[in-house]
Order: sequence, then structure tokens, then C-alpha cells
Amino acid sequence: MHSKEDDQKKTCEPSQCGSCGDASCASAGHTNPQPAAADDTDRKLKDRLSRIRRKIIVMSGKGGVGKSTVAVNLAMSAMLSGQRVGLLDVDLHGPSIPTMLGLVGQRLEGGENGMLPIEIGGLKVLSVGFLLNHPDDPVIWRGPMKMSVIRQFIEDVDWGDLDLLVIDVPPGTGDEPLSICQLIPELDGAVIVTTPQKVAAADVRKSINFCKELGVTVLGVIENMSGFACPKCGEVTPILRAGGGRIMAEQMHVPFLGSIPIDPLIAESGDEGKAFVESAASSPAAGAFREIVRELTMA
Ligand code: ADP
Repeated sequence: MHSKEDDQKKTCEPSQCGSCGDASCASAGHTNPQPAAADDTDRKLKDRLSRIRRKIIVMSGKGGVGKSTVAVNLAMSAMLSGQRVGLLDVDLHGPSIPTMLGLVGQRLEGGENGMLPIEIGGLKVLSVGFLLNHPDDPVIWRGPMKMSVIRQFIEDVDWGDLDLLVIDVPPGTGDEPLSICQLIPELDGAVIVTTPQKVAAADVRKSINFCKELGVTVLGVIENMSGFACPKCGEVTPILRAGGGRIMAEQMHVPFLGSIPIDPLIAESGDEGKAFVESAASSPAAGAFREIVRELTMA
């Protein structure tokens, strides 16, 4: 006849050994395979990251300020200047980077050392969009699932050796930017994108404070849609009270990286899947992107 205690012993999970400490337990002595597996994946993650010199996250307080546009054009600009660049789109619910780079419908393939990012002119791109059967398919994942997918985007992807990885996260301070900051402790920092209209909003200051609380360096603020660049003569006319981004950056004690004017060609290029900095290289906005890249990758 066995006792109630014996029943408890039989149902005890080997994975609980580490925290139980009961030597009389039937499961005592079983080793928990999880820590070793976790060590392995941590090593894999660290190995991948160690081959990427600079890692920059692009954030914004609100949507529609041009965050993805900035991420794409900073990455492209850096690539065109001769750097080896990756672009990681972790805007899981609204991936727009495949559209902006004309990569909709592309699917990821496996290689010898993991999944292969999609390459466009040498730029290595990875987006959840490449995993969807249809661009209109919604992604329905909760926090822990998102964290695990984002981890795989780094750990299981053959990024190779890169000078720069630009990471586009959704607006706000939710699961995705938090996952990136936790998975990449050596992140070089965050670029915060805002517009003249949104500069006074609390959201942009929240993004800056989010970085400060997590110990992530704010590399600087970019004021996008700042003034209007005439597509004919290139002259930039200040509209919508441009310049607030610089003042806000000063007030928050973070650097100001530069302004990018409204240029109808930016929107057109994005819709047509062309990289603006390449197709309109001589425009003031493309020049502004180059200047910001120089600032970010100077050291
Ligand atoms: P977010 O990632 O912040 O939601 P997007 O990068 O998707 O914003 O940009 C929103 C829209 O604004 C897109 O259609 C994009 O082409 C357009 N856009 C972004 N920046 C500019 C700009 N400087 N000039 C003109 N259009 C822009």
C-alpha cells in the first residue's frame, strides 16, 4: 500500500529539482535538461551578435511619423556608403519594410548556418512579412511568443559579419522594443523619430524615458517631415513649425541627429518599393540621411 506522500513523489516534475531540494524525492538526482539547452541558445545568440559591430534600434512615440522610412533609408544609406548592413523588421503586427523595399511575396529559405535574410543590393533584410502567406494575414501573438520570435530572428538567422544592424520596432514602448533591449544588452542605442506635429506629444518623451530606464543610450532624435523639399528646385521651405525636435532634444538632454524634409518622392519610392536614398540620391532628404548615418557610424 502506498501513501499519499508517495503519490506526490511520483507526480513531481524533474524540472522542479533545482528549486525543491528534497533529497528523499523520487525525482531527486534527475538533471534538468533545460539549463543546458538555454546555455546553448544563449551562446548562439551571443555568437550571432558578436559578429555585428553596431546595433541600432529605431523607435517612435506614435505611428505614421516615418519611423520605418527612416530605418530603411538609414540602412540603405549605410549600405551605399560601403558598410555591410542588416535591417531587422520587428514591427510584427504591421511590417511595412517588405513593401518599402519591393520585397512583398519573398519567402525565407534555410541555409547551412540558419535562415537566410533576403538580400537587396547587398542589404540583408528580415521581416515577419516574409513568414506570412499573405500580406493581409494578421499576426496574433502574445508577449512571450513575440519575444521568442524576435529571439529567433537574431539567433537562427545567418546574418554573417555586419558593420551595422538597424532594427525597426513598432511605435511605442511595448513588447517588441523591450524584447530587443533585453536580448541585445550591448545595443549601441536608440534613434527616436518624431515629426514637428508630434514633437510636443508626451509619447516621444516616453520613448526617451523608456530608453533611459532600460539603460539604452539615446543616440539622438530625428525630426522627420521637417519642412517641404521642392522636388523641382530642391529648396526646403519650413512649414508646420519645424525645429521643435532640436529644442525637445535639448530639453531632454539627448543629441539631435538632424531633420529630414517632406519630399513627395519619399512617399512615392516607399509605395513603389524603391529605396529613396538610391533613387533620389541628390535630393536634400537623401543628403540628410547620409549626414545622419555619418554621425551614427563615425566612431
Ligand atoms: P511609421 O513607421 O512611423 O508608421 P512610415 O515610415 O510607414 O511611418 O511612414 C508613413 C508614411 O509617410 C509613408 O507613406 C511614408 O512614405 C511617408 N513619409 C515618411 N517620411 C516622409 C517624408 N520625409 N516625406 C514624405 N513622405 C514621408
